[in-house]
Amino acid sequence: MGKTTILTDLDNTLLAWDEMDATHEIINWFTLLEASGIKVMILSNNSVDRVERVAKSTRIPFLAKARKPLGKNFKKALKELDSTPEETIMIGDQIMTDIFGGNRQNLYTIFVRPVKETDGLATKFNRFMERIILKRLSKKTKKWNGRIRFDRNT
Ligand SMILES: [Mg+2]
Repeated sequence: MGKTTILTDLDNTLLAWDEMDATHEIINWFTLLEASGIKVMILSNNSVDRVERVAKSTRIPFLAKARKPLGKNFKKALKELDSTPEETIMIGDQIMTDIFGGNRQNLYTIFVRPVKETDGLATKFNRFMERIILKRLSKKTKKWNGRIRFDRNT
């Protein structure tokens, strides 16, 4: 696909929102990406303390308190990684922040099911909105393996 860069959400995308430390799966995934020459950065709306704790053990750069879906930190991340929107993928578990924000920056977005079905309080409202959006989208998207996947053109 010609993609060189991955921006990824943290909570409920890489790790359950209430899990404190990076898992072996995450560390292995980052190692594999690094070996493949793919640049990665964690883009999280959570606190510096939370994100730093996970990112440190993986040596992956991160931006915390990113305020997704606002564009500022998406742009900052791409600038730091020296990447263009065309070559970048955004991965996340929330439409309202990760996917909407990524699409607005013309990134290729991948919407994943949350690691853990329960959520922090702030996320519950977003989930409610998400269900409404997904209901409408489900008519024009392909379902596969229980996931719904779409990009900015759908
Ligand atoms: Mg998340």
